[in-house]
Amino acid sequence: MNKYLMTPGPVPVSPDVSRSQARPLIGHRGGDFSGLFLSIEAKLARLLRSGGRTVIFPASGTGALESLAASFAGPGVKALSVSCGVFGDRFREIAELHGTEIVRVDIAPGEGVAPEAVADAVAANPECGVLLLTQNETSTGVLNPIDRIIAAIPKEKRPIVLVDGVSSVGAMPCFPEEWGIDGLATASQKGLLTPPGLAFVWLSERGWKAVSERTCPSYYFDLERQRKVLDKDAPENPYTPPVSLYYALDAALDEILIDGWFDLRRRAASALAAGMEALGFSLFVKDVNFRSPGVTAFSFPSGDISSVSKALKAMGIDTAGGQAQLKGKIIRMSHYHDVRWPEISLALGALYAALGPGRAGCGDFMKAAFGAWEGDQHGDV
Ligand SMILES: *Cc1c(COP(=O)(O)O)cnc(C)c1O
Repeated sequence: MNKYLMTPGPVPVSPDVSRSQARPLIGHRGGDFSGLFLSIEAKLARLLRSGGRTVIFPASGTGALESLAASFAGPGVKALSVSCGVFGDRFREIAELHGTEIVRVDIAPGEGVAPEAVADAVAANPECGVLLLTQNETSTGVLNPIDRIIAAIPKEKRPIVLVDGVSSVGAMPCFPEEWGIDGLATASQKGLLTPPGLAFVWLSERGWKAVSERTCPSYYFDLERQRKVLDKDAPENPYTPPVSLYYALDAALDEILIDGWFDLRRRAASALAAGMEALGFSLFVKDVNFRSPGVTAFSFPSGDISSVSKALKAMGIDTAGGQAQLKGKIIRMSHYHDVRWPEISLALGALYAALGPGRAGCGDFMKAAFGAWEGDQHGDV
């Protein structure tokens, strides 16, 4: 049976991306690899709208978070950690493990981070040299307005801003240089539409300067060591890179760097949301302005959500459940990949069927979804 992978990581990769991995291996010291590396770097620069270099590690997203924490946090550093879910908590935990003193700002699951709340916390804790943020909180489907959050902090008072962009980069705008991010972490298997296994760290000039003035307690994740080989005329990786994944990434970036990609992701999210609501599901993120274009979390107030996810699985559609205190309470469905109307109608049709007998009052769900797909009425974030 054909499986439809709608989990928020890994996400389905296209046949082109899959096939690209079957190309013959090349050595990672020499011109061929550097050519591949430079191609990827140029595409990442376009995606992030930055000329800065991006470090690529063979790791998952957590490795990129660990690299940022090891590079900027640690004993003697106080960090303001803003969390609205499991992944915000994880970034905090990693920083704490590295010896960082944490000042917490906790936002209820399903709610987004208001720029003023962060600006106020920064003003009240001027001794915090680092600010930890999550752009897309994958555990709840919240998209935080990182650009407005940073803009709300007066420039001369800004701590080093570290952002977990693991589930945002590729699927939604993330422009670290324009927005004032100092350290951005991401990974291959969500918005970048590549198989799992690559982690990315982008740093601002201020970020690079700060890491050059500290000793990183990690050898493998030391960004300075990475920088030295990136700065060569023919850039390479200091350690053996998973070359096949680089092929896949190079191909996947071509699929993302098309006009209107971010709009398509947002339209798919809006259409799914409209259809789900018409079916009687309840969107976990109430405020449409905070809804993620990559992943949607929903509950089923009038019935049993676990029977819905079981029915979906039996139909060949893989989704994810809730994490931590949301276990058994929500379903998370992702739409990072090239989900358009046919995939939306497939997902909504399956949800309709998953409701079982007695599913009254949801006759217009396809019309509601199609209306949203045709004219995204939720506007811009
Ligand atoms: C998936 C995810 C991570 C963890 O990434 P791994 O690749 O599983 O290590 C971290 N942060 C966010 C926001 C995520 O969605």
